Amino acid sequence: MQKSYLSQKVQKLHPSIIRRFFDIAATMKDIISLGIGEPDFTTPDPILKAGIKALQDGETHYSSNLGVTRLREVIAEHLQKKYGVSYDPYNEIIITVGGSEALYLTANAILENGDEVIIPTPCFVSYQPEVSLAGGVPVEVPTCMEENFDLNIDAVKKAITPRTRAIMINFPNNPTGAVASRERLLELAQLAEQHDLLVISDEIYDRLIYGVEHTCFPALPGMRDRTILIGGFSKDYAMTGWRLGYVAAPADLIQGMLLIHQYTIMTAPTMAQIAAITAITDCEEHVEQMRLEYDNRRRMIVEGLNYIGLPTVEPHGAFYVFPQVSGTGLDESTFAERLLMEKKVAVVPGIAFGKAGSGFVRCSYATASDQIEEALERIDQFVKSL
Ligand code: PLP
Repeated sequence: MQKSYLSQKVQKLHPSIIRRFFDIAATMKDIISLGIGEPDFTTPDPILKAGIKALQDGETHYSSNLGVTRLREVIAEHLQKKYGVSYDPYNEIIITVGGSEALYLTANAILENGDEVIIPTPCFVSYQPEVSLAGGVPVEVPTCMEENFDLNIDAVKKAITPRTRAIMINFPNNPTGAVASRERLLELAQLAEQHDLLVISDEIYDRLIYGVEHTCFPALPGMRDRTILIGGFSKDYAMTGWRLGYVAAPADLIQGMLLIHQYTIMTAPTMAQIAAITAITDCEEHVEQMRLEYDNRRRMIVEGLNYIGLPTVEPHGAFYVFPQVSGTGLDESTFAERLLMEKKVAVVPGIAFGKAGSGFVRCSYATASDQIEEALERIDQFVKSL
């Protein structure tokens, strides 16, 4: 066999299963994609205008490495107003290239080789690779349908070892749509304190919440100084292509992340940062309109899937549902592959999100209602044909 010059850590990575389905779907006609995790809405108009104006005003240069000062200030004001948690915008917030870079900076800033990070799964596909690439060891703990995919504190407890450095949570969750209960988060806070763990809280879907309250983890008593809060603009503000996110955390952690960011990225795009100021200060109505539309689709898809006979718990956040397909007699990958080939509906096999996703598929409802209706019709025909 030909020698590979790739590092061992890269050779161990696998391509994301989501991309594989997306690539197949892209070659087919008349596809309905419930596969991809991004808003179908175009970025709200005031943000577009602010971005265009920033370009026309000549905002085409590097910004400060930490990010545009005014953006950091409005993020700090927003977190204070919405969740009652205070961050110093000049030392405790860094603007990143999406939540993705925020995850990369976090893993690289805190992990020594062999450090373990507990990750409740199903989870976003990047978590394990980000931890591994930074030299850490991802330790999956399952959440389950019977508990609405809420945190399983006993499983977390059992997974803690002397090498555990952090636990990485994501509520509202991709792919289950779960929103953790405050009770469980308080129990987690207690554990974090007992074992001196950092908590990485990816709250990138915090505004997309339906009928429940989102708990901002660092706002819990005693948690601000042991939490790395990850936020973003991609989902809540329909800004995936603008590539903007942020980390809010104690100053020494942000200063460490700044070093990595400075030598790898330098700055997030300046014009996008300026547009994002408008997202926070001027787009409440737009966020609410999108949230209401997602909420309608959420009800429609949950009802439809349960009616078809694919048990689906009601998710209270993000824009995903996670139906169980094992009752059809097919495993999740065969289900997704056959649904795509036979009925031209793209969903993602749950195993893409960790072992606990086995037996499930992820459907995104960031897709127009008429498309969801048609997709449900096709899924129904497919399930009946089995
Ligand atoms: N975190 C979660 C839970 C996600 O689902 C995603 C994207 O799907 C991200 C982070 C990264 O998003 P972005 O880099 O577009 O901000």
